[in-house]
Amino acid sequence: MTLGSLETKRLPAGSVLVVGAGLAGLYLALKLAPRQVYVLTSRRSSVGSASAWAQGGIAAALSPDDTAEVHAKDTIAAGDGLVDHHIAHILASEGPDRVRDLANLGVPFDRNDKGELYLSLEAAHSMPRVARVKGDTAGAEIIKVMVKRAQEADHIEGLIGWRAESLLTDGHGGVAGALARNDEGALLGIEADITVMATGGVGGLFAVTTNPRTARGDALGMAAVVGAKMRDMEFVQFHPTAIDIGRDPAPLATEALRGDGAVLTNAKGVRFMPRYHEQGELAPRDDVARAIFAEIEAGRQPYLDCRKAVGSHFPEEFPTVFESCMSAGIDPRTQLIPIAPAVHYHMGGIATDSYGQSNLDGLLAVGECSAVGVHGANRLASNSLLEATVFGGRAADYINGRDWSEKKAGMIRSQPWLSMGPEVSQSLRNAMTANCGVRRNAAKLNKLLAHIDTLIEQVGRANPLIASKMIAASALAREESRGGHFRDDFTKMKDEAVSSYITYDMLD
Ligand SMILES: Cc1cc2nc3c(=O)[nH]c(=O)nc-3n(C[C@H](O)[C@H](O)[C@H](O)COP(=O)(O)OP(=O)(O)OC[C@H]3O[C@@H](n4cnc5c(N)ncnc54)[C@H](O)[C@@H]3O)c2cc1C
Repeated sequence: MTLGSLETKRLPAGSVLVVGAGLAGLYLALKLAPRQVYVLTSRRSSVGSASAWAQGGIAAALSPDDTAEVHAKDTIAAGDGLVDHHIAHILASEGPDRVRDLANLGVPFDRNDKGELYLSLEAAHSMPRVARVKGDTAGAEIIKVMVKRAQEADHIEGLIGWRAESLLTDGHGGVAGALARNDEGALLGIEADITVMATGGVGGLFAVTTNPRTARGDALGMAAVVGAKMRDMEFVQFHPTAIDIGRDPAPLATEALRGDGAVLTNAKGVRFMPRYHEQGELAPRDDVARAIFAEIEAGRQPYLDCRKAVGSHFPEEFPTVFESCMSAGIDPRTQLIPIAPAVHYHMGGIATDSYGQSNLDGLLAVGECSAVGVHGANRLASNSLLEATVFGGRAADYINGRDWSEKKAGMIRSQPWLSMGPEVSQSLRNAMTANCGVRRNAAKLNKLLAHIDTLIEQVGRANPLIASKMIAASALAREESRGGHFRDDFTKMKDEAVSSYITYDMLD
């Protein structure tokens, strides 16, 4: 189907369409200077991006006692056999300079009396490595600076309030821009030589999540339809300590609290983590999430106890968590914080090389919607803001270094607009959490796939349904337990670690 009389915008030759304005999209856009960039986003960065919600900070080997080798080793260990070692070394070795670049751009990182970066310890890091900003407000502060710099930049133009819904193709197997819709329902076709997806995660596909609700895998659906390959889609990270006060999305109690000594107890007042893992509260995220889930299933409400470790310092050190607790009538200085696991991060996504290039010419992906192989089966805490800058920066280098004059232009609409409506959306979210959550098995996953098919019959192959189906089908195909993916019916990890790949034509 051609675009016919639809309103269209042909971007100047060689300019870039970036879909998404979180850290990955904005950092890439800044680094593309002086090349012209158009950043399209459905919501303003401060409200619609997970980047702005990050609490703990950004991990990098910045301490004199630390090295890129140790950071890469921790990253590889967390990823449970599926991290690409070469990619982990790129992340760890290029990371410190990217964090220094953020500081030069104006991010006010916390520093000690000597002016050195204050680095905190988070789970599964072998030493303090997480640079923080104004306590637990790293994401908001970083995004504030990125937005300001983007607004000042002559080469960046914002297309705010437009939700990309499908990709345009060039008729030669490549991608040639996107089709977007605004809140009033107007459609806009944007023809571009280079399209970069930077739309974030998939938490909004699940009922219990810490992600913005708009994080529902749109890019994965759109890219899959035009032939992009997806990698490791089954690997979803559940944050162990979402604050369980009935909110959607669930507010987060950052891992840094446990880094500072907060402990996990249950309704019986028992500190339970030592029973599940030798690293106790600082065990890898998926182990902690499963332990908390097991306590909930056993009817023992879990809590985070910060009274001794943080106590009266709470308001200055963790203002975001403090505010979330107080708004629910819980004073974390003197009371326990009720917690539950929630979908937090997607390790899988559009398969890319180390420069963000997908298998389709003209289509790149950066940040959480991409899968470059750096997180494997489980992401190491605070590695994702780093990934957004390291691989966002590399994608900019690649784009700037290539001659795009040969890129085929064209404009073929790939997919009709399909709206799910709130009922179908909630039905999907409930089914995903019930059947593709912390513990999975074949019966649950088959039930989920059948349910998704019923929803597809009702509304067609909307992007969130395609993304969910690829996650569920990949989870069913992986008959082992590894990282964030735990199967009741295949509890052991296979000897051989193999990444999974799925394409749209495999869904039927
Ligand atoms: C509560 C919370 C705390 C976290 N804490 C940390 C931390 O301390 N350290 C760390 O490293 N990581 C943390 N993470 C993870 C990290 O924030 C994200 O993985 C990372 O910021 C993702 O960046 P991104 O740019 O890829 O996506 P995002 O920041 O989510 O940005 C996505 C952008 O795409 C836009 N968008 C989405 N769909 C469309 C569409 N169809 N059309 C147009 N625009 C679209 C959104 O509006 C948004 O602008 C945290 C995540 C959460 C939710």
